[in-house]
Amino acid sequence: MLDLKGVETFYGSIQALFGMSMHMEQGKVTTLIGRNGMGKTTTVSSIMGITPCRSGQITFLDSRIDGKPPYQVAQRGIGLVPEGRQIFPNLSVRENLLVTADNYAAGKSPWTLNRVIDFFPELQVRLNNMGNQLSGGEQQMLAIGRALMLNPLLLILDEATEGLAPLVRQEIWQCLNRLKESGMTILLIDKNIEELNRIADYHYIIEKGRVAWDGTPGTLQDNPELKTRYLGI
Ligand code: ATP
Repeated sequence: MLDLKGVETFYGSIQALFGMSMHMEQGKVTTLIGRNGMGKTTTVSSIMGITPCRSGQITFLDSRIDGKPPYQVAQRGIGLVPEGRQIFPNLSVRENLLVTADNYAAGKSPWTLNRVIDFFPELQVRLNNMGNQLSGGEQQMLAIGRALMLNPLLLILDEATEGLAPLVRQEIWQCLNRLKESGMTILLIDKNIEELNRIADYHYIIEKGRVAWDGTPGTLQDNPELKTRYLGI
């Protein structure tokens, strides 16, 4: 579904990705893991066209998307739940959900406001509250709901459980499991390797802007030295 080949991305003169290559299959959960500052968010920003890559290729459903602006990448079917949630603070929950809603891929049972609220019942009573009046957990649910309202073919979540209370984290993991069961293709970045191992089909470990190791959760689990070397666990 998604292929990165030799992606190099810079912030001004500072290079952050040094030939990042990865592959994602439809209906699978793929992860990007690695220590802080290794290039996970930059990989996501490169896919989305937020920080366009300077060289390399990014292909989504057989079409090149490198060089496309973020709104076109989103229209092709990639939904982003960004690091830090990035909820519109001065829009209501309902407006946050509707502002970018669409069904570009013409899915037969699209996500709608009602379906998102069924999925996240906590948002029902908050529909008329402003984005900045929500708890961290509610904001995270809203960020996921907003991305789902785009009816993406691929959903990317960057640190979706960061900074949340343990019970709320559990709730987000359960939601992600339900999305996986529904057949959604997901790219996940998170620090909780145990949870990632439970949900993932395939892992990519990033070190200094390129893939240092890739493999299945079972292989990662059976090789504690990988976790020590690349993740400091
Ligand atoms: P984290 O878990 O801390 O978010 P990450 O793996 O997502 O880490 P990135 O945020 O992609 O890492 O950062 C990769 C490299 O790019 C780091 O060296 C970082 O300092 C650098 N970098 C990230 N954003 C910028 C920026 N806006 N300007 C300059 N350098 C940046």
